[in-house]
Amino acid sequence: MTERVHMFGIDFDPLTMQQSVAEILSWTEKNEYRCRYVVTPNVDHVVKFQNDPTFRAAYKDAAMVVVDGKPVLWASRILRKFLPTTVPGSDLFPALLDAAKGSNLRVFLIGAAEGVAEKATKQISTRWPWVTVCGYYSPPMGFNALSPHNSTALEMINRSRPDLLVIGLGAPKQEIWVHAMRNRLQVKAALCVGATIDFLAGEKTRAPKFMQVLGLEWLHRMLSEPKRLAGRYWHDAKVFPKLIIQELISK
Ligand code: UDP
Repeated sequence: MTERVHMFGIDFDPLTMQQSVAEILSWTEKNEYRCRYVVTPNVDHVVKFQNDPTFRAAYKDAAMVVVDGKPVLWASRILRKFLPTTVPGSDLFPALLDAAKGSNLRVFLIGAAEGVAEKATKQISTRWPWVTVCGYYSPPMGFNALSPHNSTALEMINRSRPDLLVIGLGAPKQEIWVHAMRNRLQVKAALCVGATIDFLAGEKTRAPKFMQVLGLEWLHRMLSEPKRLAGRYWHDAKVFPKLIIQELISK
C-alpha cells in the first residue's frame, strides 16, 4: 500500500474507494484468517481519539484507515496533506459487495438493535445474491469484550468462518472490540462501519446525495437523532477547529 499520511495522531491510508475495495478483496481471497480490520475516522472519531488510549491502540493496529467524512478531508486540504477522497464505511461495504461478484464472499454481521441485522441480511441476499451472509448477531446494547455475550459472539462468528466481518457497534466500541478480539476472531477481514447495518436494513436513512456532496451528512444524522447526537456534535464543533490549529502550529 502507499505511504500513510499522518494527521491528528492518526495514520491515514491515501486510498480511493476503488483501491480500498481491491485491497480488502485481496485479503479475503487469501486463506489467511488474520482479522485485518478497517477503520473509517470521521470528526467525532478524531476528537475521541485524542483522549482515549484504548481507541488509539485500536487505530494503531488497523490494517486500513480511510477518511469517512468530508470535514476530515477538508482539514487534510487545509493542512496540505494528500488524501484523495472520502471512503465512508457505509459506501465501502456496498462497494465491496458489488465488486465481490464471482468470488463467493462470506459475510457475518454483528451489531445494531435486535432484528435489524436479520433485516439487513434479507436485503443483502436480495441485492447481492452472489454474497453469502453466513451469520448475524445483534448483541444486547452495552455489548463489549467483557460482556457475558462476548463468548456467544465469538463462537457464532468463528463457527461460520466468514471472509468478512461487518461490525456495527458504534465508535469507539467497535474498534476497541475488534482490536481486543483480533487474535480470537477467525475472520480474514473486518470493517468497523457504525450504522451501516441500520442503513442496509432500512432502519435509518442516509443523508440525501446533495447533503453528502456538501459534507452535511452529520447534519442529517443530527436532525434524525437530535437527543443522542446534538451534544456530541456541539462538542466536536468546538474541539475539531482547535485540533486543526494545533496541527498547523506543529507544522
Ligand atoms: N450499537 C450496538 N450496540 C451498542 C451500541 C450501539 O449494536 O452497544 C449499534 C446501534 O444500534 C447502531 C450502531 O451501533 O446500529 C451505531 O452506529 P453509529 O454510526 O450511529 O454509531 P456512532 O455514531 O455512535 O459511532
